[in-house]
Amino acid sequence: MRQMLAALCLIAPPVAAEDAPRVVADIAPIYSLVTQMMRGAGTPSQIIPTGASPHGYAMRPSEARALRDADLVVWVGPALTHWLEEPLDTLAGDAARLTLMSQAGTKTLPMREAVKLLDGEEHDHDHDDDHEGHGHDGDVDPHGWLAPSNAVLWAGVIAQTLEEMDAANAAIYTANWEDFRNEMADIEQELTDKLRPYRDTSFIVLHDAFHYFEATFGVEADAFIVPGDGSTPGPAQIKALRDYLAENPATCAFTAPQENDSLLRTVIEGQGTRIAVLDSMGDGITPYATLIREFADDMVACLSQG
Ligand SMILES: [Zn+2]
Repeated sequence: MRQMLAALCLIAPPVAAEDAPRVVADIAPIYSLVTQMMRGAGTPSQIIPTGASPHGYAMRPSEARALRDADLVVWVGPALTHWLEEPLDTLAGDAARLTLMSQAGTKTLPMREAVKLLDGEEHDHDHDDDHEGHGHDGDVDPHGWLAPSNAVLWAGVIAQTLEEMDAANAAIYTANWEDFRNEMADIEQELTDKLRPYRDTSFIVLHDAFHYFEATFGVEADAFIVPGDGSTPGPAQIKALRDYLAENPATCAFTAPQENDSLLRTVIEGQGTRIAVLDSMGDGITPYATLIREFADDMVACLSQG
């Protein structure tokens, strides 16, 4: 009998030893990372639904309830979702909190100026009046999940936090983290090679949310309209951008599923620039490796038509 039990243990698939912690993630790509780390032990919940902008969002009762019940909250940080700080304190004050952009070793980039690339010698600085509400010099761009190195670092921190909170399922979290690390091992080289032919192909973006991807893979937007903090650009900035693009039309203009692209269409009107959608969020179910590969594929699909 004892032998039979031993044999059963050997062939049994990994089963959660007991209930996993209740984990809440802020946005879809972080939910995806947490889901991958918890696979076999439990499932997290997501606060900001796919298709909503994280820069401003009003939670539904079910999302507030998930926060109230949380043992652990995993979020990018206050620079992405400043409105979430207060509900985190009032609803999830007792939960452990993992602020991803603050983790040691995280790659950080400064917030770019809205018309940074227009600040060359032939342009004056008359857009200074429109800076109200914008990021300040030295602020960190919060869209850090598009650097695969950050995703790997954060997945490790998430797995380690879960191991400490839920020792009974620690082996599951460790195995999930190792699977993820293996899955991500060669991805930077793969996507760097894929994007190399397009390093000099010009593009602009509606919202400055892709800087980490650009910096990792050697491409760079000529300009963008909505700064990284999601604030609205002023009329002087829009005019400066239109003037610049009239002289230097871009091959592609990238928008995102959760953005209204009317402003983008306005600035590229009549320039022959193609509009394409880049999804930096995914649907939360898509594994991170697939999300970042599809992002690169969609970018190449547009740039390669130049
Ligand atoms: Zn954003």
